[in-house]
Amino acid sequence: MAYSDDTESDIIVPKKWYEKLPREAWSKYDKIDQPDNWFEVYRLTDSVYAIYEDGHFEEVISYLVLGDEKAALIDTANGIGDIKALAEKLTDLPILVVNTHTHLDHIGGNHQFDKIATPDTPYSREQAAKGRTKASTGNYLDGDMVWKPFPDGFDKETWSVKPFKVTRWLKDGDKIDLGGRILEVIFTPGHSPDSICLLDRENKLFWTGDSFYPAPIYVYKPTTNLDQFIESFAKMTELMPYYDWVMPSHNEPRIEKHLIKECYEAAKSIKADTAGEYTEGVADGIPVHRYDYGRFSLIVRAER
Ligand SMILES: [Zn+2]
Repeated sequence: MAYSDDTESDIIVPKKWYEKLPREAWSKYDKIDQPDNWFEVYRLTDSVYAIYEDGHFEEVISYLVLGDEKAALIDTANGIGDIKALAEKLTDLPILVVNTHTHLDHIGGNHQFDKIATPDTPYSREQAAKGRTKASTGNYLDGDMVWKPFPDGFDKETWSVKPFKVTRWLKDGDKIDLGGRILEVIFTPGHSPDSICLLDRENKLFWTGDSFYPAPIYVYKPTTNLDQFIESFAKMTELMPYYDWVMPSHNEPRIEKHLIKECYEAAKSIKADTAGEYTEGVADGIPVHRYDYGRFSLIVRAER
């Protein structure tokens, strides 16, 4: 999703959200026995692990994708748990971090790594250079946002998202070669100016970052853009013949691809004002409308 700037609004963080856990979707996969209590790790395929941060409201999923020569760690969560130590337990391959965008819940552990590939946009360059102070994240680690005990030695008062050094700036259409496995970079701005998807044509997998996940999708913040979001979904829909499964960055791994088309149609009808009923609310001080579609919702600015 993104980051909470100030307010905790019911439209974003439902009370006792964690009572929904564990989500049934995870029961299909083998849970890996490992000593880190903050993250849960699941084996999705022979060569893809999901690293799930279920203790925090964002329920971030990072993915470790193995090639023959390298592993890609797709996003690094919130910087609460030691994701580098965990990833290095799962593979001996050299690890390249690949960011789906630079919202804080995807770059928190970046500073631990020395090989980082990030979308090349002015927005990402700014986020990489400045990180995030704790003060700028409001109640992000407080109250109902977190239900699990923090990891040993973690101090939420001194937590911040540290700046990080990007070693490869990604362009639209770039190919990330892991040895016998290619991740193709597809720029899909809208949720953020630097959102990308990653397509693995050979294995027919499609990582969507926060452009799509099965929960409320934020398209209301000042840096979001509904028109771009729709254009990006046109691209994502066109690519559907080349993937079987969608790998989102929150809540559930490996979900059904027809939802991409549904989200595209939903966003277009919101734009055209033909989408029907919505719930009104305020998120981060911005009046918003939430449109619900069962497996996902779209939260957009009331004024658009
Ligand atoms: Zn996110």
